[in-house]
Amino acid sequence: MTSNPNSLAARDVASLIHPYTNLEKHKEAGPTIIAQGDGVYVHDDSGKRYLEGMAGLWSTSLGFSEKRLVEAAVRQMEKLPTYHIFNGRSTEPSIELAEALLKIAPKSLSKVLFANSGSEANDQAAKLVWFYNNALGRPEKKRIIGRHRGYHGITVFSGSLTGLAHNHVDWDLPMGPVLRTDCPSHYLYGEPGETEAQFTDRLVKNLEDLILREGPETIGAFIAEPVNGAGGVIVPPKDYFPRIQAVLRKYEILMIADEVICGFGRTGQMFGCDTFGIEPDIMTVAKALSSAYLPISATLISAPIAEAITAHAGKLGNFAHGFTYAGHPVSSAVALETLKIYEERDIIGHVAEVSAHFQAKLRSFLDHPLVGEARGVGLIGALQLVTDKASRTVLPAAAGIGALIQNAAMEKGLIVRASPDAVYFCPPLIITRAQVDELFAVVAEVLDIGLAEAQRQGLV
Ligand code: PMP
Repeated sequence: MTSNPNSLAARDVASLIHPYTNLEKHKEAGPTIIAQGDGVYVHDDSGKRYLEGMAGLWSTSLGFSEKRLVEAAVRQMEKLPTYHIFNGRSTEPSIELAEALLKIAPKSLSKVLFANSGSEANDQAAKLVWFYNNALGRPEKKRIIGRHRGYHGITVFSGSLTGLAHNHVDWDLPMGPVLRTDCPSHYLYGEPGETEAQFTDRLVKNLEDLILREGPETIGAFIAEPVNGAGGVIVPPKDYFPRIQAVLRKYEILMIADEVICGFGRTGQMFGCDTFGIEPDIMTVAKALSSAYLPISATLISAPIAEAITAHAGKLGNFAHGFTYAGHPVSSAVALETLKIYEERDIIGHVAEVSAHFQAKLRSFLDHPLVGEARGVGLIGALQLVTDKASRTVLPAAAGIGALIQNAAMEKGLIVRASPDAVYFCPPLIITRAQVDELFAVVAEVLDIGLAEAQRQGLV
């Protein structure tokens, strides 16, 4: 990093605490300052161009220079730059966005509550489970089952629903009424010789055993991402969700689908629920709802929940919940324009076409000595890195090869995300076949850099 104290980099280090960053190392390394966007590419402040293979944070579906979204924001800013929807007030963009969402959402959903982030939408979902069960006179039925490797956010309760140790250690989490069940990765958690069908049977039985052990009368909901994102891009077995949902229904446990990453075409259909046969009672969306151009999220609820909470709020005299910026008119206008673009440009059709190529390319890496599994659906995917394919032994964290691959890709103008033992891909939905080729050409190079390091360390 430059020693000039007036440089943006030095001012960054002096003034900012960065999310998900090694803060000690950051003092030396300094920031990568992203200055400009152009389709699927971003440029740093030195002018270097990167293909954004993660769509930012799994979010910028329409790329980084969609003028229509800018214009929608300006139009709304000039008309009514801010207002709220408390106390029965409303704004046209928030009404139109709620309608547009319900038009494309799974049929089981009938009302929309807005929020500003994925974490808030999931916190809100949990509070609604509690309020709903109080409304029904079931004050015990409050616990929510999350899954290992699930990611639902980082607020006090969404962070508790998250099933990743590093989000808990020394953050005094999990907190509150949370139970945990299995992650549905057959590759990582299947027992030797266990087929995918047997694996699914085992997970379904484990869930039912957990419910019976803890008492169904104490469990209000189950939350899952259709495809786990941050927890490793885990694609579940085909009949996993319908089978899990049958168990939940038996014990009147609500299904919350966290569509914060999967929503709006990512998995090849409008929602992950559509791809995986989920009929949610509650669904949360964020990120691609506005192509991440402005913060906005939503919690969609079924008619029975909407009716029960409406009646209960009536009895109490108030629905005492809501965020200042819920349904913000500018964010709503931008989200509405985003949904219009998805429809007009047939984004689902585009994903269907380009994802076949993307998934084939991804699977071509199965020949690479370091790749144990290539998994994904639609335009999301991951390469699982192993030291031994037969025993499925994943790369040890201490080897530092994930970080090496991520940094080498960055050097070569590609942004991907790596955990210690996997590399993730989630490009903007507008990516073309040629750009998919460009992305994976860099991946081939950096996997070889990772392999050379694994060999040097005697791991393979
Ligand atoms: N749920 C999922 C599936 C996510 O991927 C994320 C963010 N990566 C969240 C919730 C939390 O969203 P936010 O960071 O907007 O709070």
